[in-house]
Amino acid sequence: CGIVGYIGTRDCANVLLEGLSMLEYRGYDSAGVSIFEGDCVRTIKSQGRLADLKAKMEKEGIPAGHCGIGHTRWATHGVPSDVNSHPHCGNKVSVVHNGIIENYTEIKEFLLSKGYSFDSQTDTETVAKLLDYNYQGDPFAAIQNTLRQIRGSYALGILFYDCPDKLFAVRKESPLIVGLGEGENFIASDIPAILKYTRNYYLLEENEVATLTKEGITVCDLDGAPIQKELLTATWDI
Ligand code: GLU
Repeated sequence: CGIVGYIGTRDCANVLLEGLSMLEYRGYDSAGVSIFEGDCVRTIKSQGRLADLKAKMEKEGIPAGHCGIGHTRWATHGVPSDVNSHPHCGNKVSVVHNGIIENYTEIKEFLLSKGYSFDSQTDTETVAKLLDYNYQGDPFAAIQNTLRQIRGSYALGILFYDCPDKLFAVRKESPLIVGLGEGENFIASDIPAILKYTRNYYLLEENEVATLTKEGITVCDLDGAPIQKELLTATWDI
C-alpha cells in the first residue's frame, strides 16, 4: 500500500518511518523495513501499526544505515501477519511491493521446482524469489527478466544485497515516484512521503527502471535504453 525508499547520508530508519507515517492515511495492516547496515541488509517487519514496527526495531536494535526500503501493507494475498508483511527477501534481494501479481501461483510452482521454498502466502514473495533466481550479478538484467515473467500490477522497491550503494524501482499500474535530493534520493508511492526532504521528483512510467545512488538517478526502459525524464516540482505543503 505504501512504499518509501531512501539512499543518502541521513539515518535511513528515521526517513523510512517518517515517510511511511505520511502515507498512513491510505490504511494498512502491517509494516516493515530493509536497511543496509554496512554490507548487510537487516529486515524488520511487524503486523499492526507503525508504532508496533518501531517498538520491534527498538527492541532488536534500529538498523544504522543510509540506504533502505520500507512498506505499509494492505493485504491482498495472505492474511495480515508478521511473516506476510513486506519486505520479502530472497538470498540476494529484498523487495517491497504494492499491487497484485496475477500469475504468482505459476511462478511459485516454477520456483519450487528449482528448489526454492516459501515462508509467506503472499504473491509478493514470488517476485523476491524470482528476482533472486534471475540475479547473476547484473541487477538490471535480473529486473528485466523478472518483469518479463510476471503479470499484474506492481510498484516495486528493490535492494540487491551485494549492491549497498544502489536502490532500484519500477512500476506498472501502481503509482511510484522518484524524489531527487542533494546527495540523497528517494522513492515513494506518493509525494507526501518525501515532501519533508525534497519537492523535486520524476514520475515513473510503466516498466521504466530507476536506479538510484546517493549522487544521482538514472531511468531506463526495459530494453536498457536511457530515458530523459522531466523533473517535476511539488508546489503544495503537507
Ligand atoms: N499483494 C501484496 C500483498 O498482499 C501487496 C499488497 C499491498 O499493495 O500492500 O502482500
